[in-house]
Amino acid sequence: MKADNKINRINNIFFDLVNQIIPLFDGEFSVRLVLDDARKYPKTRDYAMSSVDTVFIAPKILEASKNTIEGLLMHELAHVYLMKMGIHEHSELQTDQLAELIFDKKIYYDNNDIQTTKGGKYPRPDYLPKK
Ligand SMILES: [Zn+2]
Repeated sequence: MKADNKINRINNIFFDLVNQIIPLFDGEFSVRLVLDDARKYPKTRDYAMSSVDTVFIAPKILEASKNTIEGLLMHELAHVYLMKMGIHEHSELQTDQLAELIFDKKIYYDNNDIQTTKGGKYPRPDYLPKK
């Protein structure tokens, strides 16, 4: 797949998810997807992070499967939702639980403990960072 196709693919997954949140959120839900510097994501599990209005992604996410991208972005968008609610203190498990409610889909963890919608460990394993 060419780079522009990969960017189109992740954009489509992202905006499809965002469009599912908009009707559920009380207020404006505006969020952008930003392709970030690879050097900020040195660990195997580092794929994405978020702020109140931005989901930052590591370039390597472009190589991931659709289910992995979906799981990662569902998780990040639930973080964004909580931050927009002013709930900055929240756990990773709470984030997954909210994502599951918003998108009516479960987040699993694969063999590398990366989020996916395909199936795997559920719920988020206890040995992973809790915050
Ligand atoms: Zn998280």
